Amino acid sequence: MTAEIKGIIDKLISTRSLSLEEYESLIAGRDNEAYAVLQKEALRLRHGIYGNSVYIRGLIEISNYCKNDCYYCGIRKSNKHCSRYRLTRDEILSCCENGYRLGFRTFVMQGGEDAYFSDDFMCALISDIKKMYPDCAVTLSLGEKSFDSYKRLFDAGADRYLLRHETADSEHYSRLHPNRLTLESRIRCLESLKKIGFQVGCGMMVGSPFQTPGTLAVDLKFIEEFSPDMCGIGPFIPHKDTPFANEEKGSAELTCFLLAVIRIIKPNILLPSTTALGTAASDGREKGILASANVVMPNLSPLTVRNKYELYNNKLHTGAESAEKLEALKKKMKSIGYEIVCDRGDIKRN
Ligand code: SAH
Repeated sequence: MTAEIKGIIDKLISTRSLSLEEYESLIAGRDNEAYAVLQKEALRLRHGIYGNSVYIRGLIEISNYCKNDCYYCGIRKSNKHCSRYRLTRDEILSCCENGYRLGFRTFVMQGGEDAYFSDDFMCALISDIKKMYPDCAVTLSLGEKSFDSYKRLFDAGADRYLLRHETADSEHYSRLHPNRLTLESRIRCLESLKKIGFQVGCGMMVGSPFQTPGTLAVDLKFIEEFSPDMCGIGPFIPHKDTPFANEEKGSAELTCFLLAVIRIIKPNILLPSTTALGTAASDGREKGILASANVVMPNLSPLTVRNKYELYNNKLHTGAESAEKLEALKKKMKSIGYEIVCDRGDIKRN
């Protein structure tokens, strides 16, 4: 580690803030020694606030229909090879029932942008889930909507919303998405969600095409300033039926490095060790936890549709990635000194 990197890390640890140039130098100049210093501090902060608890979320992938055409995503509208499905209300409720029995106290409903799931439908569903399971949190990850739609979903009882910003550099954003999708609108959605009162999550893929240390620096500065409650980051993994089929996948090493930096920027943030990280590297999920992630999101979707929500190729959906195998996941976490807890797992504020 050079003296320059050492100085940048010291500044990050003492002020939780860096300039764009410093973030960029830190990423470009990182090495194992720099990671070890960041990791130690990130874990110290994580343990001070959350101890060795790992929060779990049951992920229910409600639909793989999507009106958007994001260049990286396997369920994009133009992918004619994608076998489409939608869960019924009863199927979603039985996922919750199953999840509750297994010990989940947060249900995450994620899907493509599918107009079939109207606000009326979602609001009725959310309020029923909250009535049946008053001790549970409901998280939504359903893409961009109007302020009024978000407000209705919040009023129906939804607690949290995940909407990754994908990249905070508008030029980079336009290379990952068709013209009708803009960074400006994505950010406006995130601001609305926060204003309405959701616990809000943003995040980005690591190693997406055209990403550079410079664009990642813009992401970190955005995270620092927006101060989200949650931040989902995972390696980009190509999907064969997308325009990015032949691009290289992102690295687990850089993902872990960024997890530790984000923990230091915002010590109480909820950071998932993502499925993409588990897919990109063996023991990826454990590596994420050891980089200070404190959340895992096993798959609760019905087994019949699980392989169809294919955002990228070889996406894990069995073994310790699946809700039924929670015991296996508990053991894995225990073997690295962590404990899965049965808890809503809200962000700790003080
Ligand atoms: N429609 C919702 C949910 C999108 S899927 C929304 O717009 O928020 C959830 C996340 O999966 C995306 O935000 C994206 O960051 C990630 N993702 C999509 N394709 C991916 C790929 N090829 N590799 C890794 N992550 C991907």
